[in-house]
Amino acid sequence: MKLNEVSVRYIKGIGPKKLKEFQKHGINTVEDLLYYFPHRYEDRRNFLSISQLKEGQSYTVKAKVIARGERRSFRKKGFRILEVVVSDGTQKLFCVWFNQPYLKEYFKAQTELILYGKVEIYAGRLQMNSPEFEIVEKDSSISLHIGRITPIYTLPKTISQRRFRQLIRFTLDKYITKINDFLPYDIRSRHNLLNIAKALINIHFPEEINLQKEAHRRLSFEEFFIFQIPLALRKLKNKLKPGIIHKTEGGFLEEFILTLPFRLTSAQQRVITEIKEDMAKAQPMHRLLQGDVGSGKTIVAIIASVIAIQGNYQVAFMVPTEILAKQHFLVIKERFSKLNRAINSALLISSLQKKEKERVYRQIKEGKIDIVVGTHALLEEEVQFRNLGLVIIDEQHKFGVGQRALLPKKGINPDVLIMTATPIPRSLAITIYGDMDFSVLDELPYGPRSVKTLLFSIEEANKAYVLAKEEIRKGRQVFIVYPVIEGSSRCDILGAQIMYEEFRKNEFKEFRIGLIHGRLRQAEQEKIIKKFQKHQLDILVTTTVLEVGIDLPNASCMIIQYAERFGLAQLHQLRGRVGRGSNTESLCILIADIQNEESHRRLEAMMKYNDGFRIAEEDLKIRGPGEFFGKRQHGLTELKIANPLIQLELLKLAKQEAFRLIHQDPQLVMPQHKLLKEKLIQRFPDYERLMVVG
Ligand code: ADP
Ligand code: MG
Repeated sequence: MKLNEVSVRYIKGIGPKKLKEFQKHGINTVEDLLYYFPHRYEDRRNFLSISQLKEGQSYTVKAKVIARGERRSFRKKGFRILEVVVSDGTQKLFCVWFNQPYLKEYFKAQTELILYGKVEIYAGRLQMNSPEFEIVEKDSSISLHIGRITPIYTLPKTISQRRFRQLIRFTLDKYITKINDFLPYDIRSRHNLLNIAKALINIHFPEEINLQKEAHRRLSFEEFFIFQIPLALRKLKNKLKPGIIHKTEGGFLEEFILTLPFRLTSAQQRVITEIKEDMAKAQPMHRLLQGDVGSGKTIVAIIASVIAIQGNYQVAFMVPTEILAKQHFLVIKERFSKLNRAINSALLISSLQKKEKERVYRQIKEGKIDIVVGTHALLEEEVQFRNLGLVIIDEQHKFGVGQRALLPKKGINPDVLIMTATPIPRSLAITIYGDMDFSVLDELPYGPRSVKTLLFSIEEANKAYVLAKEEIRKGRQVFIVYPVIEGSSRCDILGAQIMYEEFRKNEFKEFRIGLIHGRLRQAEQEKIIKKFQKHQLDILVTTTVLEVGIDLPNASCMIIQYAERFGLAQLHQLRGRVGRGSNTESLCILIADIQNEESHRRLEAMMKYNDGFRIAEEDLKIRGPGEFFGKRQHGLTELKIANPLIQLELLKLAKQEAFRLIHQDPQLVMPQHKLLKEKLIQRFPDYERLMVVG
């Protein structure tokens, strides 16, 4: 029986109304229901007595209601407080709920409750604020809820813990013998993984703590494994493709490196060696280059381009914005101009005149262009290469997965180099980019960046402005960054536009001040950047258009307003815009609402660390992988139970097994892989297409 095809409607107790509620939470089938895991457990085999509770810790207790009452808050108007006093015979415990008067009905005298919450001492008495609670009823299924390790689920208000537990129990009893395990037996036995029935039973109703852990391990492995198989298949397919054997020796690469105005860092040299080896191979390169802002990725990309060009192949270099495309184009031209031979580069962006665009199209097609730098305009159908040998994609997270895949299709298995300045901890890189090889630029050309980061509350903003003025008087330049262009009453913050006007008239009226944001036309944006580059402006008020790659070395101070509204990785990228010049110390001032504990923690990480990898790790810990990457890209949110950050060893095992299995049976035709194949097709709508060779 395929449990992913049995609707939960057939489960006793789920009527049309509940059905709707469940569907809203993504539970459509019996399988969904069984894979709806508890978010925590309570050990209800023995309860502590209330007299044993300590302040500041969370506990589960069992006690009877002895009194309840309601009052209005003195401090907050219209605020209603429900107070319930419970006791287990040893001591009283006060429980309070705010503005939930309907709860009162539950707490009749003598009602027996299980309560879970943090114990505080308030006015000399023990108290729990808004504890989770369950009413102990003397029904037959009591063993589901008490006297055991009890699962606690994240549920909508309309479904009680007790009700849900009963449903799960019923579903397990009815269907557990009908579940087939799609994890092949040999893999399970190699790594001592529970079978699926035992895992599901023990994730919901663990017989003992150890079994819960085993269940967790098995189900986590399963998630990692399913995630890795398509990556393994993609990697295998890539390997089987006939790639270009690039000429890495005997061209003008050495000569080019000698023309550089600086010495390559040892990290750059190492990465170039890795790329060289890849490019010389008969299989297409598929490499991800990670490097902090300012680590010098561009020159690495240019050197890879030289390797392709010296063998008469063409290079396509795609970046997310027109400004960046132009900047890279200029850098590339400048670098190649030092070389004693003609290398033809072109720029391709949407804003080019039609005629100009057509000329570029024609020259690319005729092979007259060696390297073209552009935006997603490179993806247009009219762009056809004579012999595309290398694709480079910068700031890859700005492109969708689909967009990224399009460019290489314009050649015959060209080498692909993908670059990112958002560093990802290794465990996550394996999870989502397992089909690629990784390189890391872990060294900055001028040594560690010297940016001092300060955190001010909104009331202290003036202090930041004083510091900024000092910088300007020293001949340096300042950015002031806002999260939005226009403020709105909905998010109740001020935006770049209005503050630009304000600063110009008041705070910074003696200085030259400019404004840039994404809604300005490209030409306008560039004009302003140029002015700033030429030091015709002291201050640039901006939004996150500044985030990617633009090199403005004289800026030494950045003020980030409403810093709590940015992700950490984003803040770090922004900060990378200052402190690029060598000797002087730069300043990054975060102005934020620091009331909120989580944002405070995040911003503290910014002050503590200057290293993008450390910051990314912190960010991940605080926000979790789903939020970190944004929902859309990687399906990471579908990891319901597995966590790559804390289960790295298990992830590696799952990866190893997935790759082994795909090498052994890429089409999953062996009978022991039949269920797995079904599972993959169910999980990934594209999977069948991926299995087609070619
Ligand atoms: P990112 O990795 O952020 O893309 P870039 O490639 O833009 O960094 O490099 C940042 C700056 O450092 C550029 O001005 C570049 O010319 C310079 N640079 C790159 N490599 C070196 C090096 N080995 N020594 C000195 N400066 C370098
Ligand atoms: Mg860059």
